[in-house]
Amino acid sequence: MADQDPVNPSHATFDLFIQAQTCKDVKNHFAELCKQLNIDPKDFRTFYPKLKERLNYWKAKALWTKLDKRASHQDYQQGKACTKNKCLVLGAGPCGLRTAIELSLLGAQVVVLEKRDSFSRNNVLHLWPFTIYDLRGLGAKKFYGKFCTGSLDHISIRQLQLILLKVSLLLGVEVHTGVEFQGLVEPSGDNGWMAKLQPTSHPAAAFQFDVFISAGGGRFVPDGFKHKELRGKLAIGITANFINRNTAAEAQVAEISGVARIYNQKFFQELLTETGIDLENIVYYKDDTHYFVMTAKKKSLLKKGVIKQDYSDAEELLAPANVDYEALCHYAHDAAYFSTGGKLPDLEFAQNYAGQRDVAMFDFTCMHRAENASLVRERRGKKLLMGLVGDCLVEPFWPLGTGIARGFLAAFDTAWMVRSWGMGVAHLKVLAERESIYQLLSQTTPENTSKNYGAYSINPKTRYQRVNLSAIHPNQVSAIILYLLNR
Ligand code: FAD
Repeated sequence: MADQDPVNPSHATFDLFIQAQTCKDVKNHFAELCKQLNIDPKDFRTFYPKLKERLNYWKAKALWTKLDKRASHQDYQQGKACTKNKCLVLGAGPCGLRTAIELSLLGAQVVVLEKRDSFSRNNVLHLWPFTIYDLRGLGAKKFYGKFCTGSLDHISIRQLQLILLKVSLLLGVEVHTGVEFQGLVEPSGDNGWMAKLQPTSHPAAAFQFDVFISAGGGRFVPDGFKHKELRGKLAIGITANFINRNTAAEAQVAEISGVARIYNQKFFQELLTETGIDLENIVYYKDDTHYFVMTAKKKSLLKKGVIKQDYSDAEELLAPANVDYEALCHYAHDAAYFSTGGKLPDLEFAQNYAGQRDVAMFDFTCMHRAENASLVRERRGKKLLMGLVGDCLVEPFWPLGTGIARGFLAAFDTAWMVRSWGMGVAHLKVLAERESIYQLLSQTTPENTSKNYGAYSINPKTRYQRVNLSAIHPNQVSAIILYLLNR
């Protein structure tokens, strides 16, 4: 409900901003709020203090208390650690936005570019305890009241993006949507590093930066980085979202936080016998939607007519022309119905961004992982620190639910790297430390990372139980840089 204070219209606008449920509404209410309070969001250094000063009614104050607590951490040195740095972040997915927040707390000027203009992913992410703690600290519950209520440990991708977008804007991050990054523009004349954008005339094309963070998701790899392919046995993932009407009956249905074939042979055998559906694993989360993710066996997909023709190449096998969408809907529906014991009787598909039934099939056979997390490029005496975060650093296997936790760990590690850069640490040392930390990422689990969530900060030592920040020597890094840049 909007605040009804007739005296100060900005209170009502702030409420609308807090509650906004689309990217467009968030941006519109934010623009209106800035206008009403007469604050220029481009004035990133004074934006948040001015906002706090001019919007100090109880609801806003409760949020400022949380953000101030985070901002007061010693790592940020009162927002002065990176005052000379200008950072371009590519991608307003959860990891790009989470990184942007940290960089702005360090005092850097931060610009985020996002090619889409809506947040539409219903799919649900599993949250490790530290991410829940972290997001609560950023006021997640104020933006989204249902955030991790009770024992819930998940959130839809779009809700997470909305929360992080709101926090980013409040902290003075510039977020541009509907702008595609097309590459780096090398320094020339007096200009430093810039970006080639579509539309070309976008004002952010004039932004000069010394830090570039790519959080472009999936297989988006900026020039200079190299990816490793980890090819396993064929793994076909299916996701499906059904409308959650929040009825009492739906509330009763138990979630499935991950059943793998090896642990419950009986369940999978019954599923196969009764429906012809053959799965390796299945996860069910009750969120804004009823969300299912499963790994299906090729033979059963062929038999049920979901895949039309058998090919040995996964790309050919799962090409849209080789998939029968109707049969896929039936397959996902029946798997969802059976695995919830028929207790979700009115399973109606939610709609995806294109207004179609939200079901999709993905290939997890070949996962990508960047060989390096960081790089420094230098042209005409101008250095550019580059870093990768999120899925473009390490692609996650969704049913395992590791994506967002490792994504946030990398976002913090990257912020730590930018902090060292901002504080004038020699660049080979900055990179060597970042690569030393990166070695740990793929082995992290909720069990082997620190349980002291309250102490988590961008300093890796607060999160990893055993971390050797000099596992990689600066000399090794210089060889890597030369190799990557000259290949
Ligand atoms: P993303 O969330 O993918 O964000 C990257 C952003 O960069 C996107 O918004 C993209 O539009 C933008 N971008 C890319 N290129 C450019 C460019 N050139 N210029 C400007 N912007 C650009 N994980 C799960 O655990 N379970 C799931 O069911 C699941 N479903 C998914 C469904 C889809 C369709 C996708 C794409 C991802 C899914 N994921 C899922 C992965 C999950 O979304 C990520 O692990 C998580 O969001 C963190 O990713 P990220 O921020 O690194 O990247």
